[in-house]
Amino acid sequence: MDDATLEQDPELYRIRHSLAHVLAQAVLKVRPGSTLGFGPPIEDGFYYDFVLSKPISEEDFTEIEKTMRHIIKQNQEFSREDLPGPDALARIEEMGEPYKREYARDLIDKRGLPSLSFYRNGPFLDMCEGPHVQNTRELPQHAFKVRSVAGAYWRGDSKNQMMTRLYVWAFKTKEELDAKVKAHELALARDHKKLGKQLELFIVDDDIGKGLPLWLPNGFVVRKELEKLMEELEFQAGYDRVATPHLAKVDLYYRTGHLPYYAAHMYPFMEILERRETDSGEVTEVKERYALKPMNCPHHHLIFRSRKRSYRELPLRLAEYGQVYRLEDSGALSGLLRVRGMCMNDAHIYCTEEQIRQEFVAVMEMHREVYRILGLSDYSMRLSTWDPDDPKGKEKYVDNPAAWERSQERIREAMRDTGMPYSEVKGEAAFYGPKIDVQFRSVTGREETASTNQLDFAVPARLDLVYTTPENTEKNPFVIHRAPLGTHERFVAFLIEHFGGAFPTWLAPIQVRVVPVAEAHAPYAEKLVAALRKGFVRAEADLSHETLNKRIRNAATLKIPNVLVVGEREAADEAVTLRRYGVQEQSTMPFAELRARLERAIATRAPTLD
Ligand SMILES: [Zn+2]
Ligand SMILES: [Zn+2]
Repeated sequence: MDDATLEQDPELYRIRHSLAHVLAQAVLKVRPGSTLGFGPPIEDGFYYDFVLSKPISEEDFTEIEKTMRHIIKQNQEFSREDLPGPDALARIEEMGEPYKREYARDLIDKRGLPSLSFYRNGPFLDMCEGPHVQNTRELPQHAFKVRSVAGAYWRGDSKNQMMTRLYVWAFKTKEELDAKVKAHELALARDHKKLGKQLELFIVDDDIGKGLPLWLPNGFVVRKELEKLMEELEFQAGYDRVATPHLAKVDLYYRTGHLPYYAAHMYPFMEILERRETDSGEVTEVKERYALKPMNCPHHHLIFRSRKRSYRELPLRLAEYGQVYRLEDSGALSGLLRVRGMCMNDAHIYCTEEQIRQEFVAVMEMHREVYRILGLSDYSMRLSTWDPDDPKGKEKYVDNPAAWERSQERIREAMRDTGMPYSEVKGEAAFYGPKIDVQFRSVTGREETASTNQLDFAVPARLDLVYTTPENTEKNPFVIHRAPLGTHERFVAFLIEHFGGAFPTWLAPIQVRVVPVAEAHAPYAEKLVAALRKGFVRAEADLSHETLNKRIRNAATLKIPNVLVVGEREAADEAVTLRRYGVQEQSTMPFAELRARLERAIATRAPTLD
């Protein structure tokens, strides 16, 4: 990271390196008697590790920043001095920095460095390779900010002393810093784990297991609405729905070619004893091994294989929101975004080679349509191809160069038909064929692969999937594996952050909350709720004894899109006063009118009420 920054932007690198010395000097001033660890530049600034004489908390950040500015204004010169081994160690002894001393000994004794370099600016001396600015006056005074404080072990080893790490954002200009701070605040406010808790969407309980989220009633609604949307689009596009178990015999995955390579990503296998009768009537016990399924494909393939298939049945499209399990590294698990149990918007399309183009185009059109409905526009497409020059190519990919070239050409044709721009990336294909990955940029700037569309020319033959051609011969179909909404887990995490938890009415867990002004209006509120629920609107009344304002605020905390306030006048006129989430003005209208608007917005999955 350091070197890349030095190469890409030497000026910024020098600024960050120099500011690290300024920070250390400032910390020694506000916490005299502290000692120093390392202080390197990082992606968005730098950090410095300390053993502090007295703890530092967020309340101290302003004082540290002020002290840093004060130091910068002193126009301190940075001067370098190179000292041969023994002199360097003597200098370190004078500094009285035990951690610097340990590191210096390593450099000289173990790595055999003939000399060490020191930098001095003002009263501060540090052992450092540089480079730095000439004078602190070159450092921007308002483009850095102490970001956070954290614990970190000396040299990253948990057997060592725990130090205090101060992270600092540092840029060349105040504008860049402000943009960074704003993006960070937005990311914090929209963090799906924070909102998941606040809106009661999901939890992860260690008694169930890491990476195995529990969907709460509110989260389940979001998931169910997405499922309903896809079921409708898939129905219109001629898909058939199926359901398959969460387990399968291990041997199946050897036949598809997923094993042994995929073993590290699967839960350990289960072994059971199955009683079996031999031809002579003897009863023996046979061991059978089962695996939690990491993908749905083999199950669907066996449905295809369950009887003779004719070319007249193709394309055959089998769809399922299928639960799969993948043993992700525990360190990588995070909320809904990185999980071990996930439910996939899966389907497999079995088709002839001639049908690939139209089917692939139809899948891409479905992607486009669902992203339009959800108001997602910041995405890009990537064609992942095989890499014929990869030395490990024979292990990584099905060994059939001609088939690779042909199927990639089919996808390029299809993508040309859609008019969607895409880039090509070599070496990212699935082992059985090329694919289109859809990359999303989240509001917090993170890049995510949200969905894929893959062409498989290899696995059907391995599982003896065949269809009868018009000439009465047998052929292997091609398979398109597609999942426009990826998994519920990852996609809902993405949507929570995209909407900041304020879902459009059709997707919102609670679509309407009715708030009676006083207890006397509770019966009217309950009557409205009953009428709305009859039309399948997710409505509820807040009959708690809080003040009116508090109840309105509570609805806002839950980001409920439509709040109906009803009092004397509303009850008398069969009317409601509508307050929409994030909208200042409120308006009073006949209840019948509101109900029609709500039902229309829900039926058309509109982003807002019209
Ligand atoms: Zn330095
Ligand atoms: Zn698949």
